[in-house]
Amino acid sequence: MSRLVIVSNRVGIPDGSARAGGLEVAIRPALKKSGGVWFGWSGKVSDKAPKPATTVVKDDVSYVTVDLQKDDYEEFYNGFANRVLWPILHYRLDLAEFTRRDLGGYFRVNEFFAANLEKVLEPDDIIWVHDYHLMPLAQALRARGHKNKIGFFIHIPFPPPEILTALPNHERLIPALGNYDLVGFQTDTDANNFSRYLATEVGLKSVGQDCFDYDGRVTQVGVFPVGVETEAFAKLARRAVETPFVRDVFQSLSNRAMIIGVDRLDYSKGIPDRMNAFERFLMNFPDWHNNVTYLQITPRSRSDIQEYADIAKQVGEAVGRINGNFGEASWTPVRYINKAHSRTALAGLYRVSRVGLVTPLRDGMNLVAKEYVAAQDADDPGVLVLSRFAGAARECTAALLVNPYDQEGVATAIHRALSMSLEERRQRHAVNYRALMRNDLSQWAEHFLDTLAAPPQPMRMPVRASVRR
Ligand code: UDP
Repeated sequence: MSRLVIVSNRVGIPDGSARAGGLEVAIRPALKKSGGVWFGWSGKVSDKAPKPATTVVKDDVSYVTVDLQKDDYEEFYNGFANRVLWPILHYRLDLAEFTRRDLGGYFRVNEFFAANLEKVLEPDDIIWVHDYHLMPLAQALRARGHKNKIGFFIHIPFPPPEILTALPNHERLIPALGNYDLVGFQTDTDANNFSRYLATEVGLKSVGQDCFDYDGRVTQVGVFPVGVETEAFAKLARRAVETPFVRDVFQSLSNRAMIIGVDRLDYSKGIPDRMNAFERFLMNFPDWHNNVTYLQITPRSRSDIQEYADIAKQVGEAVGRINGNFGEASWTPVRYINKAHSRTALAGLYRVSRVGLVTPLRDGMNLVAKEYVAAQDADDPGVLVLSRFAGAARECTAALLVNPYDQEGVATAIHRALSMSLEERRQRHAVNYRALMRNDLSQWAEHFLDTLAAPPQPMRMPVRASVRR
């Protein structure tokens, strides 16, 4: 059996803590099965000369990490990945800050990854590269003569060519994805956008549906929506409501209904628009005054980037305004918290919330939406209000789907969710839960790797969730 080599910007080295990220949970069984390697950045930034990679071996898996130099960190990570690719791939051309220097740093670090990775590569290893930080990695490996099967999965959205072509040097970057044998996306829309780019901008010939001829090798395009561990998360939520933390929060509500939002502090999540929509809801539906509490959990991220500081200010001001205008001595309408919470705490909080408010302006998938559904009590479930621009909306079709830019629409959806009959809540939840069960995280890695290992063929894996709006 071939070894599996995972490459991602950050590496999930098991550290004995209970917390494991989604990627880690998804790929660990596959890594253990074949005895694999996980390669990536250590998370450390150094201003000394580059050191050789560090290897930690645990349960037959080698975790191989390299440090980044200060310039690499600035240009590759903060610069091109997070100031250019992140906004553009989230359809935010207005926020992209392109410099040639950052682009150079991006290609340089991909080359550095390839140079270090090849020291541990064997000819029949299967390589699976993750996310937007590493788009040109296969090209760098091919240039070094590696003929391994290499797959790529992008966890975030992929916009149409009309947006992508506004990225300076897109013609150097995007076609480089043709060096992968399989390029996987979260949704059909993302995959179609990529296929359209290859056809119209690169002039690649399609050889069967979803396969392209790239310099004599076939690149396959596929759809692999990331799921959650549905049953395990449901079980966690059932237990979590009994913890002192969740009980305390629940008691503090004094019988008020709770709405929950959980997002990293990122402009793609639409938190200011959501605050405005909640304010609109309080204006339009005064019967809910003093009867509802909106808890927004928002750990800070990427604080060195100006746009993130701006969004923090905007959200803070909106929360102050809403609480100032509508609050009373005994009622705070919005509880806004920047502290990160454990998976267990979140699972319990989702379960005691009547509404899950997930309204990103654009999101590759949005796991919070799926976790909210998985955590509900099927006999008395809460209602998911979900942005149509989140990948999760393709599966959670029985959520109240909203346009996050339409504040009146979101305000009305909040009211509808809070007022929904038990029968409708149960029906909607059952549809969403079944969709999550059909696409559990446990099958995701297997699905991708089976497709990568098989010879390319005309195929696509649509998400078959029954539609009910
Ligand atoms: N999360 C967490 N603690 C927090 C906030 C979020 O563990 O305080 C987790 C959340 O449960 C989810 C993930 O972080 O699994 C966020 O994934 P999502 O796809 O929603 O958004 P991303 O941050 O990847 O854009």
